[in-house]
Parts: sequence; C-alpha cells; structure tokens
Amino acid sequence: MGIFLFFIDGFGLGEADQRSNPFLVARLPVLTGLCGGTPGLRFSGVRQGGQSLVVSTDATLGVPGLPQSATGQTAIFTGVNAATHVGHHVNAHPTPALAAILQGESIFKRVAGMGRRPTFLNAYRPEFFTWLEGLRRGERARNYRPSATTLAVLAAGLRFRDLTDLAAGRAVYHDITNDWLESRGYVVTPVEPEEAGRRAAAVHAEQDLTVFEYFLTDLFGHRGDTVSAVASLETIDRFLGALLAGLNLGRDLLVITSDHGNVEDLSILTHTTNLVPTIAVGRGRERIAREVRDLTDIAPALLGVLAEGMV
Ligand SMILES: [Zn+2]
Repeated sequence: MGIFLFFIDGFGLGEADQRSNPFLVARLPVLTGLCGGTPGLRFSGVRQGGQSLVVSTDATLGVPGLPQSATGQTAIFTGVNAATHVGHHVNAHPTPALAAILQGESIFKRVAGMGRRPTFLNAYRPEFFTWLEGLRRGERARNYRPSATTLAVLAAGLRFRDLTDLAAGRAVYHDITNDWLESRGYVVTPVEPEEAGRRAAAVHAEQDLTVFEYFLTDLFGHRGDTVSAVASLETIDRFLGALLAGLNLGRDLLVITSDHGNVEDLSILTHTTNLVPTIAVGRGRERIAREVRDLTDIAPALLGVLAEGMV
C-alpha cells in the first residue's frame, strides 16, 4: 500500500463559463465528489471534498510567461524549480539541463532509494523499446524525444511496461481505453475506463508508488476541441471511480495534479496561468493539503508521507 500519483496534463482551474470550460458540460460524478463541487473552477486555498482535500496550486513557478510541460513536470517529479533553474518555461520535451535534473533526482529514484517499490503504470509501444536499445548501445536517436516521466523512470532504472503488460492487464495505455493504439493499427483489445481503473488499483496493490500520466486533456485543449475534451474528462472520471474503489483509502493516498492549465479554457489554444488543483484522497491527505502551494511542493510532500510511514 502506498501512493498513487495520477498526473493529468493541462488541468487548470478556470472560469464558470459553459462556452469555454468543459468541466461545466462533462458528466463528472467522481471528480465532483472529490472536489466538493464542479471541478475545474477557480478557487484559492484548500477545499474539502467528500473524502478528499483539494489545494489550489501555483503552476507558474514564479517565472514570467505561460507555464509549460517539461519544466512543470520536472518540478512535479523532482521538487526542483526547473523553470527558475533554466530561466524560462520549457515546452514538451526536457532540454539537456532539465534531463540532468531528472537524472539526478526524482520521486522514482527517491522511493527506490528508500528501499520501496516505485512504478510507472503507462504502457509503451514497441518503437520505444527500439529507441531504448539504441540508447543503451550509445546511439543518438533523432526520431524520438523522451518525456520528463520517461527520463525519470529511465534514470531510476525501473522497468518500462510494454504492450504485453497491457494485454495482460498489468499496465494502462495513456488514453486509458486503448482507442489511440487501435486507431493507429495496433492489435489491442479496447478497455472500458472502469476496467482500466480496476487494473490500475491491482498493479498498485504491489507497489509503494504508482504514477500514471494522462495528457490528452492538454492535446484537446490546444485544439480547442470541446467534444473530445468533454469525452476525455468523462473517461478520466470513470477510470477514477474504479481506481478509488480498488484502493484501500485507510492505507493508500491518491494524489491527482497537473503541470499547468489548458483544457479548462477552450476559448484559447495555449496553456493558461491558472492555478491547478492538487487533489488528495486517503491517508496522508492532510499533509498534502498543508504543504502543497506550488508544483515544487508535491514531490517533497509525497516523500514526507512515505517517510513518515503514513502509507
Ligand atoms: Zn501543452
């Protein structure tokens, strides 16, 4: 039993405007319960949900400009203010300077260093393993750029889950349902969000830290695609309902957070400077609510909960 960190890219707290904010349109019973009201709406401070605490979290890292994924994710997974470190926000894929931070430390590495078991739940495609083999032979790949999570998992020496794990129910694809893979010609069985949630909980039962990353919210935010954004939020909600049912909240801590706003305002196609929610459910949630104010507080708070033996 331990911590399940569900990272949702581009999930900010926006205006109560049905024309631009899909959180007001989507059917989200689970997130609504966790957020103590409609999720994706602006508030500041700490809010109480049914069995959760939600902290509004500053994603700007004190650096001018729009917050971006590479710096935001590096901050979340390491606790280092990556944007201040390199002097600006970095989009999408980590630069060598950010890769060096992720190489040096991350929650994966720290949890492994505590003698406990961290894992990344996302499944990778065969093309990734070809890149990985090339990397291990010292080749420089030109056609693949790893994400912050991939670099952190790699640096911690953890095993990457593959499509065999996915078929066996030991991994979840980034879109939760496998539709993304199927539409690109991979032979996979579609998975209902509830089944993916049950599988996520089953994997987590043998781990001390499980991380799952979902980024279609950010993609649909960039496209200003309301229909897909609403569908993706509803998929997340169904996944979360089953995940929560499968966790032991007397002993587990579920934390949901994001690197920056985006999908909560479909009137613009860029990220936003909005606050993001950090939702904490289960054992240790009070510590998360007490300690998290910006993205750099998340990793230390999670490690604090683990070190205290709270989960
Ligand atoms: Zn983005």
